[in-house]
Amino acid sequence: MSAFAGRYPTRYQAITIHNIRKQPEWQRLDPELREAVEVVSRVLPFRTNVYVVRELIDWDKVPDDPMFQLTFPQPGMLDPEDFRAMRDLIRSGATREEITAKANEIRFKLNPHPAGQMTHNVPYMDGKRLWGLQHKYRETVLFFPAQGQTCHAYCTYCFRWAQFVGIEELKFESNEVDMLVEYLKRHPYVTDILFTGGDPMIMRARALRRYIEPLLSPELEHVQTIRIGTKALSYWPQRFVTDDDADEVLRLYEDVVKAGRHLAIMAHFSHPRELSTDIVREAIRRVRNTGAEIRMQAPLVRHVNDKPEVWAAMWKEGVRLGLIPYYMFVERDTGPKNYFEVPLAEAVDIFHKAFMQVSGLARTVRGPSMSAWPGKVRVLDVAEINGEKVFVLDFLQGRNPEWNGRIFFAQYDPEATWLNHLKPAFGKEKFFFEEEPYYQWWEHEYQDPLAQRVPVAEAELVMAVA
Ligand SMILES: *Cc1c(COP(=O)(O)O)cnc(C)c1O
Ligand code: SF4
Repeated sequence: MSAFAGRYPTRYQAITIHNIRKQPEWQRLDPELREAVEVVSRVLPFRTNVYVVRELIDWDKVPDDPMFQLTFPQPGMLDPEDFRAMRDLIRSGATREEITAKANEIRFKLNPHPAGQMTHNVPYMDGKRLWGLQHKYRETVLFFPAQGQTCHAYCTYCFRWAQFVGIEELKFESNEVDMLVEYLKRHPYVTDILFTGGDPMIMRARALRRYIEPLLSPELEHVQTIRIGTKALSYWPQRFVTDDDADEVLRLYEDVVKAGRHLAIMAHFSHPRELSTDIVREAIRRVRNTGAEIRMQAPLVRHVNDKPEVWAAMWKEGVRLGLIPYYMFVERDTGPKNYFEVPLAEAVDIFHKAFMQVSGLARTVRGPSMSAWPGKVRVLDVAEINGEKVFVLDFLQGRNPEWNGRIFFAQYDPEATWLNHLKPAFGKEKFFFEEEPYYQWWEHEYQDPLAQRVPVAEAELVMAVA
């Protein structure tokens, strides 16, 4: 696509701590900030690329620039004491081993995987653990293709950083597409498969096809939707425009649509600037031409998109380009969290102020939503009921599907940042979902347990007729 070849970088070049010093933009930063980025990156490595650095970051506004905050490590991400210790160690000319030891010590304090993420949703089949799969909600299976376990660039707040820094035992992994197919055959109530990572779109088109094509077979007709979670549209839209296998990617997308399935690109967009370049617009146009839908979602992150105007502008621009706003997430309880977290009370206020600025077509967005242990819980509002100030919450997606859409109440707490900080309102001891058993879908092979449960009235009718 020569129209873009001269205007945007076409050869993917990663930028890390090892080559950042060669970038002209880097020389514009003051030395203290440069040192700080280097110190933090020993613990939380960064990876970005020439497109992000040249086209998305506004270097006149650094360090406050949101795209800089999103992609470069910040001094505030470490505890001041840890920061000083690491800085002094580096200044003293410590060995690589000493620095790595200190870095690992700090990393383990940062809760690399939130509770339950690691193992609880990983299913069994024939007594074998299927690493690389997660099955938390009845209709949706998450798949982590082994070849998609990294990203075009890392986001500074991302809970997946643990797998990027090479702490081996913390990795999710799988390369077994046969196992995925077998699992889906045995669970006919699964309608959605979600490819996630890392970023599956870092894979070559041919590798991606090896994973996706088998899902299009008639035996897997119940898999209606194939979703691909990706940041490629924002960080490397060249993936769909100028990469040498860009056309092949698009042909694969077309094949999914031709096979009668819904292909949903779950595009991670954190800031409207990511939608502003000509090349991302061309990428969106090309992807939509295949018949795929693009939904946009992102976490609410301090310093990056913690203002209603940012979200409203992003949803409006997204809708104009044909994207469907989907989720606003609450940043989860992991990693260098204090730096990025936004209290729930503030999150719901930001959401409302953004929501009121957009038309109905952008109000498909739902949030702020916490992907917590019992499910996706949305903070709907703050209200006063019988003189008690409460959060009104509901389940967008429950571990038990009977919880979907259920409303519940928690005591208002201006500092709470996650579901586990909340206490039930109205003097209750427990939330309703804490009193019910959790489902584990892989224990129910072949049959949908809910389909088997016959309501009493209906059962009586069946008996009467018989
Ligand atoms: C969000 C999520 C899904 C998909 O849920 P939808 O509400 O259908 O988008 C599936 N599995 C897990 C673990 C999730 O967090
Ligand atoms: S693109 Fe997604 S998976 Fe990759 S670093 Fe960013 S948030 Fe994490």
